Amino acid sequence: MTKPLNPGQTIGILGGGQLGRMLSMAAARLGLKVHIYEPGANPPAGETAHRLTTASYDDAEALAAFAESVDVVTYEFENVPAAALDLIEARVPIRPNRQTLATSQDRLAEKTFLIDIGLATAPFATVNTEADLAQALAQIGMPSILKTRRLGYDGKGQARINDRHDAPAALAAMNGADAILEGFVNFDREISVIAARGLDDTIACFEPGENVHKDGILDTTRVPADISAATRERAFGIAGTILTALDYIGVIGVEMFVSSDNLIINEFAPRVHNSGHWTEAGAVIDQFEQHIRAVAGWPLVDPLRHSDVEMTNLIGDDINQTHDIACETGARLHLYGKAEARPGRKMGHVTRILGPVTDRN
Ligand code: ATP
Ligand code: MG
Repeated sequence: MTKPLNPGQTIGILGGGQLGRMLSMAAARLGLKVHIYEPGANPPAGETAHRLTTASYDDAEALAAFAESVDVVTYEFENVPAAALDLIEARVPIRPNRQTLATSQDRLAEKTFLIDIGLATAPFATVNTEADLAQALAQIGMPSILKTRRLGYDGKGQARINDRHDAPAALAAMNGADAILEGFVNFDREISVIAARGLDDTIACFEPGENVHKDGILDTTRVPADISAATRERAFGIAGTILTALDYIGVIGVEMFVSSDNLIINEFAPRVHNSGHWTEAGAVIDQFEQHIRAVAGWPLVDPLRHSDVEMTNLIGDDINQTHDIACETGARLHLYGKAEARPGRKMGHVTRILGPVTDRN
C-alpha cells in the first residue's frame, strides 16, 4: 500500500498501553479508525480505540483476523515475536519496517548499526559468560553498565559496575540472558530528538527535549534543551541519518548523551516516545498525530513549537496529585485510565507551559 489511507480506513496497532491509547485518539481526530491487538486484559488503549482484540502473540488465527481487518499495521510495543510479524506482513504492510524492529530489539544489533552508519555510541562488548565479562571490563574499564541485550525498559535488566567486586552480582542480575557491557558516559545532559519520516521521504524533527531520569525511569522532559545551536543542528542531523538508513516510516525517539560538544547515541525507540509527550501541549502537532500521518501515508506537518514546556511523568503514587494539578493554570494533565497505581507504573503525565518560545523557532 503506497496510497494514503482515507478517513474511515483502519490502522492496526500492536500493543495496547498508554502509547496505543494516545495514538488511537490522534487517529480518531483524523477520522481514521484504530484496531488494537493486545494480549493483556483491559489495556489503556482499549477505551479509546475503535476495536480491540485480546489474544496472545502466538495465536495465529487471531493475528490473521487482525491483519485482515486493517489497512496498515504499526506498533507501540517492540517485543512482538518474529513469527507474529511474518504472519501479519504476509497480509498488510508494517510501519516502521521489520528491519528497524529487529535492530532496536537487540542492543548489540542497535549499537553495531549506529557505528556502521558513522555515529558514536558508548564503548560496548558482548557478555554471555564470566570470562566474557572479565575481558569486557579489561577492554572498557569502569564504571560501566551491564545490560541485557533484549527486553529492557525503564532501566530494568541493567546493573552498574563501579569496581570489580560488583561484577559477579551484575552478571547474576542478567539471569542468564545475553548481555552487553557499556562504558559509562559521563554526560552533561541527556536529550532526545523525536523525529518522523513520511512515505515521500520527508523528515520532520521536533525541538530536542532535555531529559532527567529518576531511578532509571524518565522523570521530566524540558524543552528547549540547554544546548548550543550547533549541537541542536547535529542532533537533527543524527536523527535524519538514522531515519534514512533504516528507510523508516513513522515517528522515532532518539536518545542521546551530550558530553562537552559530543553527541553519543544511547538508543532509539521505533515508536512514539515518552520524552515526546510534551508535543501535545507545546507544538502545532503532537508526536502521536505525526506518527499516524506517517504510517497512513499522509503528509507530515512541520512540527513548530509555540511554547517552552516541561513534561513530568506521574508515576505510581504521583497519581494522588491529580486534583492539585487539575487546579493549576497552564498545566495540561493527561491520565492513562489505569486502575491500579503500582510503584514505578506510569499513570499519566502533566505538561506545564513555561511561557512563549524563548529562542529559535
Ligand atoms: P527506557 O526504556 O527508559 O528508554 P532502557 O531500559 O532502554 O530505558 P537505557 O535508555 O539504556 O535503558 O538507560 C536508562 C538510563 O540510564 C539512560 O537514560 C541514562 O540516564 C542511564 N544510562 C544508560 N546507559 C548509560 C551509559 N552507558 N552511561 C551513562 N548513563 C547511562
Ligand atoms: Mg532509554
